[in-house]
Amino acid sequence: MSQASIMQNRVLLLNGSTWEPLSVITVPRAINLLLAGKAIIVEKTGQFLHTVRDKFPVPSVIALRTYINVPRRRAHWSRKGVLVRDQYTCIYCGAKPGSLQKGKVLGKSDFSIDHIIPRSKGGRDTWTNTACACSSCNHRKGNRLYHEVGMKLLWEPKIPRTSYLVIAVGTGLEAWKRYIEY
Ligand SMILES: [Zn+2]
Repeated sequence: MSQASIMQNRVLLLNGSTWEPLSVITVPRAINLLLAGKAIIVEKTGQFLHTVRDKFPVPSVIALRTYINVPRRRAHWSRKGVLVRDQYTCIYCGAKPGSLQKGKVLGKSDFSIDHIIPRSKGGRDTWTNTACACSSCNHRKGNRLYHEVGMKLLWEPKIPRTSYLVIAVGTGLEAWKRYIEY
């Protein structure tokens, strides 16, 4: 891997002591934190960045040395974030990728977000008003309210913890998984 492409890798930054995910940062920023003594390497990629005199192991996960008090940011709503939060499981029938429906094995592309209160009735793009639904349920519900068509919510959609943000970015590396709660 070239030095230039290594610089474009992403690094998961954890908080000090709790090791809660804080954000996803660039390799140069991670190396600055390490060189400034503000962070430690938690996981290495096995790659190295070479300078004239030195070589630095390229991290995939680093942690701050001290805990910083960050107010819990509200996770930014996104379609992808809703699908990840719901693990691509239909809120109405429980179908998920791999489920068999009408003789067809479902894939991730068979799922999209549903507005529980339809947008045409004033429903908004919020975490609590959106959930993952299979195309069959989405179609059946249409622009109506779920109870009008005899459907039920299998769970109550919730505002996710910020760590979903990191996954929703879609760049999660294998090495990050154990630091991120699903
Ligand atoms: Zn469904």
